[in-house]
Amino acid sequence: MSTHTVTVRGTVHIDIEMCKGCELCIPACRPAVLVMSTDVNETGYRYPELLPGCTGCRACLDVCPDFCFEVFKYEHPFTVEVDA
Ligand code: SF4
Ligand code: SF4
Repeated sequence: MSTHTVTVRGTVHIDIEMCKGCELCIPACRPAVLVMSTDVNETGYRYPELLPGCTGCRACLDVCPDFCFEVFKYEHPFTVEVDA
């Protein structure tokens, strides 16, 4: 299987139990590193999960009506290998 290198500049903590599954955060994330789960939270909603490559841009935090995101920007970006 081939891999490619992704730069990671930040990360998010997602409060999945606060999520209402509106999916607004998915297109708001420019590097497209948020994907909706297949599992549901205790309220029955699917919620976003983070793939490698967050930039720490805070767009998800700004768009989420339910305050699910905390965003952390790394002082020193790093790279990870992910399956292509
Ligand atoms: S901080 Fe930016 S890059 Fe990271 S998950 Fe949120 S929208 Fe995506
Ligand atoms: S924007 Fe907030 S409430 Fe909507 S799916 Fe994303 S995390 Fe859930």
